[in-house]
Formats: sequence, structure tokens, C-alpha cells
Amino acid sequence: MSTNTHFDREHIWHPYTSTLDPLPCLPVSHASGAELHLEDGTVLIDGMSSWWAAIHGYNHPALNAAAHQQIDNMSHVMFGGLTHQPAVSLCERLVAHSPAPLTQVFLADSGSVSVEVALKMAMQYWQGRGESRAQFLTLRHGYHGDTFAAMSVTDPDNSMHKLYKGFLPQHYFVPSPQSRFDGEWNPNDIQPMRDALAAHHGQLAAVILEPIVQGAGGMRFYHPEYLRQVRALCDEFDVLLIVDEIATGFGRTGKLFACDHAGISPDILCVGKALTGGYMTLAATLTTRHVADTVCSGDAGCFMHGPTFMGNPLACAVACASIDTLLESDWPQTVAHIEQQLKTGLAPARALESVADVRVLGAIGVIELTDPVNLADIQPLMTAQGIWVRPFGKLVYVMPPYCIRDDQLHQLTQGMITAIKQFFGE
Ligand SMILES: *Cc1c(COP(=O)(O)O)cnc(C)c1O
Repeated sequence: MSTNTHFDREHIWHPYTSTLDPLPCLPVSHASGAELHLEDGTVLIDGMSSWWAAIHGYNHPALNAAAHQQIDNMSHVMFGGLTHQPAVSLCERLVAHSPAPLTQVFLADSGSVSVEVALKMAMQYWQGRGESRAQFLTLRHGYHGDTFAAMSVTDPDNSMHKLYKGFLPQHYFVPSPQSRFDGEWNPNDIQPMRDALAAHHGQLAAVILEPIVQGAGGMRFYHPEYLRQVRALCDEFDVLLIVDEIATGFGRTGKLFACDHAGISPDILCVGKALTGGYMTLAATLTTRHVADTVCSGDAGCFMHGPTFMGNPLACAVACASIDTLLESDWPQTVAHIEQQLKTGLAPARALESVADVRVLGAIGVIELTDPVNLADIQPLMTAQGIWVRPFGKLVYVMPPYCIRDDQLHQLTQGMITAIKQFFGE
């Protein structure tokens, strides 16, 4: 049976689409490894990992087995007053492998919700210390999700804060660091952060940022020294540090967590996306014993959050299988190999007039163009190359599943360059 794409087009909202003139959506019949199979028989090499999530590729035997086993046992039970081994096993793994000393885990439904939870934790932490602090400090070009509080700390221009003026809380933004990940550290980069902390620390509940990689807000890779200094400044000014590893967690940047590039640990950490290997939605917010206990010593006497599907056993079971699959593999070598191939494969793009920059970190490859492309025209050029790449604005980027083969990755990088050439007539 083929998907009723007419109904889809007439009735279903897709991410960031207009009902007036929706772009076509391709019906996928099945997926396996690094391949998406369309209903018309077309096979596309997946460059997106379904937005950072499908790190092991699709239809993975170990993850499938975990889902089957768990569903035959129970899909879900409420987490209030009940618990289960899948949640305990997952939290054991998260505590063991996340940057120390994060020991307390809150399981959330999605990345955005884990950010909401992190912000609420930070506010309740200050209430626990007898202070009222409701402001956050963050970076331009950041992305933390689409719910209101998450959006309030996301780049104001990219997330169109002006649409929600009067409703969206106002927070502090500083310019994002200019020192590149692999470039020289410019000490001036930290000055705006230091100034903002010096000026506002008494009102600030926390600094929130994406470590090393600013993802959806511009695919920028910044210098680890920046992260180290932000950590030190947060300590100096007694402000919490929330690190959003929703995109970067689980090996994507070449370290298990991007924080590891700087050797720092935040007070609160968000993970999501690849947590379940892309099988279903699940995220987590981790914090220290000190923060957790302070949160609960405030007026409320507890942390005020508890979603219906909290700790969903099915998602937790798959997440355990995904983490085990990752840690049992030689993922540092795999990601390093992909990094090398992306560097080689994307290098020729530098010679194009339409290309402003090419950068690679871990299993992330970015071609930044001089001008924005329109999706309606470039998407078909990408699929004609047999690749699934979804550019936005000036960015043509890939973060393929770690299981991608050399020949597939070659097709992906070649295809990106060919499509860009065709688009700009180069
Ligand atoms: C995707 C993303 C989020 C939001 O996660 P959702 O699961 O889409 O709600 C938050 N922060 C970062 C860094 C992300 O990449």
C-alpha cells in the first residue's frame, strides 16, 4: 500500500511548513543501515541521521530486539510511585558515562522538554537557596528547542522572538565565540560573557549553551577554551551552568560528550536525540546531588515536573541497547574515520565560488554557502544524487549514521558537491 501523500499534503503539518504551499514530502517505505528506501524504489544514502538521532542507522538488530522484548513485557506504566528495570538500567548508564559528578537523572519526553526541565531546576535551585533568580544568559546562534522557555534562550532572530513579543521571557544574549574549534584561541572571545556575568550575576539562575557545536543555530564549532572559561566564570560568579548536549551527545563530535573536549562538567546536562539511537522520543536532564537536594529544599519541597510518559519503559529499553551498542563498538575509531573521510570528501567544495567555508568535526560535515539556497530547488538535486541531505539557509550539512560505509559516504560527499554546483550553475 502506498502512502496517501495527497491527504498528507492537505491535512498534515510537517516541521516548519506552510499549509498554503507545502513542499513535497517523500514517502519512505522502510530504512536500514544508512539507507532510506522510498516507496517508488529509490534508495537514498542518509546524511541526516534523522536529525542527529539515528547514530547506529536504521533497523538495527540489537535495538529491534530490545524493543520487541520490552513491548512483550510492558510498553508503559506511570512513573509516579512505580519504577522498572529499563529506567534503572538507563539511568545507571547515564550516571556512569556522563561527565562526573552528575548523579541525579530526570527522564523527559523530548529534547525541548529536557531543556524546560533544566531551566526549571535552575530556578528552583535558587529558590532553595532563598533567592529569586529568573534570568538566563546564553549565546547568539544557539538552539535549545521549540517550546516557549527553550525558545526564549534560542537565538532571537532564528527563532523569531518578535512573533511572541510580550509572551516570551526576555533573557541575556552574548555574541557567540569566534575562535574556531581547530583554530587559535582569541582571549577576547570570552569578554562579553565575563561582562554579562559581572553585570547581571545577581539575577542569573544559569548560563545555558550548546558545548563546542552550535547546531541548528548555525552549525558553528567553537574553541574548547571558551567552554573551559565559561565553566570557570560560572564558578567565579556563582551561577549554574546548563549544557545542552542534545545534538552532540553519544560520540557525534569524536568525544562521548562534547564537554569532554574541554574536560569540564556542567551543573545540569541535557541529552536527547541519539539517546534511543533515533528509535523514539526520549531525553534526560542530569544534575548533581547538590543541585537536586537544593531544588527540593525550597518551598515546593520537590521538583515540580512529571510528564505522563515519564520514564517510558519501551524508550528506556531501546536507549539501553543503543548505549551498549555504542560503547561495545570502537566508536572513537569509527567517528575519527568518518571525520577523515568527510574532510577529504568535502575539501573540493572549497574551490567553489558559492562556498564560503567548509568545516568538519567528528561525524559532522558542513558546507557553508555564500548565499542561502531555497529548499524547493535544491532538495530534488540532492535526491537525484541518491542522497538525503536537507540544507537550511546557507548551510548544507551532514551528520551520517556511524554505520555508514566508505562507498556510501563517498557518494554522500560527492553528491552534496554536485548538487551545489548544479544549483549555482558552477
Ligand atoms: C534538537 C535539539 C533540541 C530540541 O530537541 P527536541 O527533541 O526536538 O525537542 C534542543 N537542543 C538542541 C541542541 C537540539 O539540537
